[in-house]
Amino acid sequence: MTQPPGSGAASPVTLDDVRAARRLIAGIAVRTPLKGCDALGERIGGAVHLKIETMQPTGAFKVRGAANRLLQLSPEERRRGVITVSTGNHGRAVAYVARRLGIRCVVCLSSLVPANKVAAIRALGAELDVGGENQDAAMDRAEGRALAEGLVMVSPFDDPAIIAGQGTIALEILEDVADAGTIVVPLSGGGLAAGVAVAAKALRPSLRVVAIGSERCPAMLRSLEAGRPVAVAEHESLADSLGGGIGLANRFTLALVGEFVDEIRVVGEAAIAAAMRFAFHEARLVVEGAAAVPIAALHAARFGEFPSPIVAVITGDNVEPDRLLAILRAAA
Ligand SMILES: *Cc1c(COP(=O)(O)O)cnc(C)c1O
Repeated sequence: MTQPPGSGAASPVTLDDVRAARRLIAGIAVRTPLKGCDALGERIGGAVHLKIETMQPTGAFKVRGAANRLLQLSPEERRRGVITVSTGNHGRAVAYVARRLGIRCVVCLSSLVPANKVAAIRALGAELDVGGENQDAAMDRAEGRALAEGLVMVSPFDDPAIIAGQGTIALEILEDVADAGTIVVPLSGGGLAAGVAVAAKALRPSLRVVAIGSERCPAMLRSLEAGRPVAVAEHESLADSLGGGIGLANRFTLALVGEFVDEIRVVGEAAIAAAMRFAFHEARLVVEGAAAVPIAALHAARFGEFPSPIVAVITGDNVEPDRLLAILRAAA
């Protein structure tokens, strides 16, 4: 680390940005509670708290970043409208905030996005543009339409306002667990991990931030190893919200995750399914695959490996009922 995290003028996102985001989004995103999870704590040797982002109005944390971004649009940008690309939850969050603010909203999705997420976005009155075999194809469409139609592009993660919005989670965690030793977050494009790490490290430098990706689509991990954004093949995964690359023109999250996140791990499909079952049976939580990866990683950790208290961010609950039922019925 070359400078105090989140305080350097050179950083595109600082602790002050995250604090300002918190004030701005207060009327739209909710302050979520923690739920203790003794069953997990006993397994891994420490106190474990789950940060219940599934209580957000759209069922996922992404409303934090979306609100922070859209509330900073100029009146002229609001008139033009916004366009975004999403694996589902970001699109839903942008659609939700746009509707509250009376802004036109177009959401581009790949055909990998589950039907329940598509339906939820449609129900919020956004214009849908579905097609293409992966997230990167949907991104290309969104960028083309933004130019052609004068719409404001809202990145799902690679934008300082989005990152600062997601970082508000860390402020709440450290208010509730001032001595937190570890925060565990899911990782895809890295907006969540970057925002949480910038804020958490600025407030508590000794805290360890661990980010968990899906083995099926480890775009951030491969990019950090390569030292530049690399494309990875996208495969269907239970963690559908973790699909997609980090963008070959990544400007912010690759550098921020590289600088502030202590460690990245990946988990596989069987571990994700087991973690979804665990969340349901042991914590009475419905979680989607992407939100189960911190639990999966804690299951795989060595006893006592992570400094306690440990806070795992449970990011979303937008799972199709049939899929969840099939996972719950499958033997552990
Ligand atoms: C978007 C999302 C993530 C990953 O967030 P990034 O900022 O892209 O890393 C994790 N979980 C859920 C439920 C999500 O919707």
